[in-house]
Amino acid sequence: MVGSSAQVRRLFRAAKDLGLETVIGVGNVLFNSAPAELRATPLPDPSGRHGNSGTTVCPSLAGGRDLILQTTRALLEQLAEVGLDYICIWPYDEGGCACERCRPWGGNGFIRMSRDIAAAGRAVLPNLKIILSTWTFDTPPEGEWQALTEALASDGGWADVILADAHEDFPRYPLDTGVPGNLPLINFPEISMWGNWPWGGCGAHPLPARLQRLWDQAKAVVRGGFPYSEGIYEGINKAIASQFYWDPDRAALEILREYADYEFSGLALACCR
Ligand SMILES: [Zn+2]
Repeated sequence: MVGSSAQVRRLFRAAKDLGLETVIGVGNVLFNSAPAELRATPLPDPSGRHGNSGTTVCPSLAGGRDLILQTTRALLEQLAEVGLDYICIWPYDEGGCACERCRPWGGNGFIRMSRDIAAAGRAVLPNLKIILSTWTFDTPPEGEWQALTEALASDGGWADVILADAHEDFPRYPLDTGVPGNLPLINFPEISMWGNWPWGGCGAHPLPARLQRLWDQAKAVVRGGFPYSEGIYEGINKAIASQFYWDPDRAALEILREYADYEFSGLALACCR
């Protein structure tokens, strides 16, 4: 823990030196050594989209809630000196609890847990902003988006940004019905693993058509994003996603041309035009 937290501090310091803002994920997952009595109840996952590594904790149990909040505070205290701008709270993949008091997770236990985490985080870092992820909401159980809308309408102010995306098409709810809390919406394009086999396998895999298709679905509403990478070989996808945020109407093909011009010179590409 000491070694890894020192590494995170070095990474965040380097990001700050470049003028970047920083974010870290928190939630009820990856509690590898939590006692069995604090474990979450596994979620029904008929679509195989939510994930369950067996490391989740139930936030409706007093001991589970304490463990989640104490761990969050300890993490943020280690980052206080470097500075941390955002935390991102994630509902699924991994995560969740299907116990009687938490379900339906995205519309109930997750919201309560996130509100508690936001308060605990701001007790350490008063200017901390909260990104609330809705990853794979409504796939199923349905009704999670609507429940979040109702929860933020009656008790908003603790979340700053909503993150939405999915493995396949962009979620329809924020496009058709509106973003819960009328908050800014960001996306979460998967830029390093899609199309590689096994999942997470390495090797170049440019995805201009896929990124363009998904961006076209969401660009009227999305205000930025969080391209997700687990690799060092997806520079083209990173450039495309970043350029979409810079200019929403730029085409992936045009971005590819500029990228190739930079990497290989316009002269080398002249024969390809
Ligand atoms: Zn629970």
